Amino acid sequence: MTAPAATTPAAAKPLPVADPLTQPFWDACARHTLVIQQCLSCRRLIHFPLPACPGCGEADLGWSEVSGRGTIYSYVVVHHPVTPGFRDDVPYVVAWVTLAEQEDVRLICDVLGCDPGAVEVGAEVEICFEDRAQGVSLPQFRLCGPATRERS
Ligand code: ZN
Repeated sequence: MTAPAATTPAAAKPLPVADPLTQPFWDACARHTLVIQQCLSCRRLIHFPLPACPGCGEADLGWSEVSGRGTIYSYVVVHHPVTPGFRDDVPYVVAWVTLAEQEDVRLICDVLGCDPGAVEVGAEVEICFEDRAQGVSLPQFRLCGPATRERS
């Protein structure tokens, strides 16, 4: 007979599921590098990844490393997580971030290590990576400047 666990194990956070179209993005994230799909014909950056360029229709696409700098386009403060794995993180910020390289390229990520009250539309952010599992890292953002704090 085994003894009952002293504490309930923390619920797991979901992991991204890569497919052939998104595998290069997740592989780069695992190396803590942010890459965005790019049309090799018109040079347009594309996110989320697509099989063809929405600008010129070409299917000759590659990947380009970007700065990881951007601004908050919109955000929400989550107080009631939809999955138990985020229960210990509330309140936390999920933002739609416009990358510096191209105005219509936006990522949806958490803004880590900040007071949710310090977040505002237009705030400058920079990329960071959350190592969620062995070989799986998620792109997230941090506020640039003095509004950041350590997250426990
Ligand atoms: Zn194109």
